[in-house]
Amino acid sequence: MKINILHAGYCTAPEHIAIHGGRWRKIHFPAMFALLRHPRFGAMLFDTGYSYRFFDETKKFPNRFYRWMTPVTLSEEDLVVNQLLKFDLRPKDISHVFISHFHGDHIASLPDLNWTRFVYMPHAFSGLRHLHPSEDVKHAFLRGLIPADFDSRSHEVDMSKPVLLSEAYAPFKTGYDLLGDDSIIGVELPGHAHGQMGLFAREDDGQLFFFVADAAWLKRSIVENKPPHKITNLLFPDPQAYRETLGHLHKYYNTHPETHVIPSHCEETIRALETPQGVTRL
Ligand SMILES: [Zn+2]
Repeated sequence: MKINILHAGYCTAPEHIAIHGGRWRKIHFPAMFALLRHPRFGAMLFDTGYSYRFFDETKKFPNRFYRWMTPVTLSEEDLVVNQLLKFDLRPKDISHVFISHFHGDHIASLPDLNWTRFVYMPHAFSGLRHLHPSEDVKHAFLRGLIPADFDSRSHEVDMSKPVLLSEAYAPFKTGYDLLGDDSIIGVELPGHAHGQMGLFAREDDGQLFFFVADAAWLKRSIVENKPPHKITNLLFPDPQAYRETLGHLHKYYNTHPETHVIPSHCEETIRALETPQGVTRL
């Protein structure tokens, strides 16, 4: 498998919200997505970042609050569909999207992917679909980003069939073999959003990538085991679980320095790993 780290747009927010003790200045939070090219399953994505649809869906109140909280910068060349062209790929070539969670900055290009299967943990979406639309913004959910035929293309992770992970993944004990060939392992990263899923994926050259989505916004949070500002407890469905997940990531990081642990919005991490084909301007 070949793995490329890319991002589609970024938002700005104060650093001290993202990490306890951070500075007051605003920093960039790229919306990372990853291209995974698998010898058998073809091209796949982990999340999609922003698209112009994010702006369409946040035009009116109350969704407009989402745009106010996290002002977004996005250009034509940032769009997933345009970045795929650099790899000679079209939307129809994307066989699967692994959705970490359903916040707008992770799923804004789903409507561009008309032939793709959607893989996610069932509890990541089950609670959202029955919300009253006026409640969506509280969950950073924009239902207009969900394609009309979403259900028919959904392949929910079968939570009744976890696999036991080897000691190499400790302290993560169980995961989900998402393609049935051991190449992509999904793990639960609870706290930030219901059913948040991280991915372990290994490149041909043996390098292991661990996509941790929003379990931490900055790599420094994992390195120092330092959570975000307390105010984020109001945003997270389970702040205690968030803290436990961060503790697990900290332990994993300390014992596996060779793994690329990638928080979806950490500019430093994404800059360091982004490939020449990716948009590097942040
Ligand atoms: Zn999120």
